[in-house]
Amino acid sequence: MTDPLITQLRPMPEDWRRALAVVAHPDDLEYGCSAAVAAWTDQGREIAYVLATRGEAGIDTLDPERCAALREREQRASAAVVGVSVVEFLDHKDGVIEYGTALRRDIAAAIRRHRPELVITLNHRDTWGGVAWNTPDHVAVGRATLDAAADAGNRWIFPELTEQGLESWNGVRWVAIAGSSRPTHAVDATAGLDRAVRSLLEHRTYIEALTEEAPETYARDFLTRTTTATGERFGGRPAVAFEVFGR
Ligand SMILES: [Zn+2]
Repeated sequence: MTDPLITQLRPMPEDWRRALAVVAHPDDLEYGCSAAVAAWTDQGREIAYVLATRGEAGIDTLDPERCAALREREQRASAAVVGVSVVEFLDHKDGVIEYGTALRRDIAAAIRRHRPELVITLNHRDTWGGVAWNTPDHVAVGRATLDAAADAGNRWIFPELTEQGLESWNGVRWVAIAGSSRPTHAVDATAGLDRAVRSLLEHRTYIEALTEEAPETYARDFLTRTTTATGERFGGRPAVAFEVFGR
């Protein structure tokens, strides 16, 4: 049996102070949800980013070592545009991230360090909807993040983290999935949209390698299209959608 598709999206929960976003690659959050991040940091909420890789396999014409340093710089700049100053990298290998206990442990450790109430990740499902296949890195990190939200709260799972001084944190109340084909909630993107465009534009080298379009046009068109489409299910305002799993 499939779940019925929710036609009207609900507002995201508001009663939280700290969020941690965990994704596979530099740019995942900028394509996915940085307009929401801008709105949240405006409200004084703390948000940190954790990236499983440095996106070193993302640019065909650039060897991975040089690419990693460049994409790390671009990611830090794009986070700063939406008010995020903490950006960490787990140094899993781009393109071949393995779902498993090593990944779950690294993400659980990050959750224990940052102690968020809200955890954000990118689409963990096989497709983006229809027949648009997702990448194995997104699936692995999305699934491991959903699992690690619980792992972080159990001191008997990964006891080595406790020995390193990372006490268990059972305070994650929601895991919100950006880019899901089955969203349940949304955030108004009106105030954050311009910064989201500038934030995506900080990945300039990546975008220039990806498209012949002018980067400014490409970034604005992409984010306008996705936030407008979501807005049709959220009172007509541009919006960022999430599939929210409660805990
Ligand atoms: Zn990605």
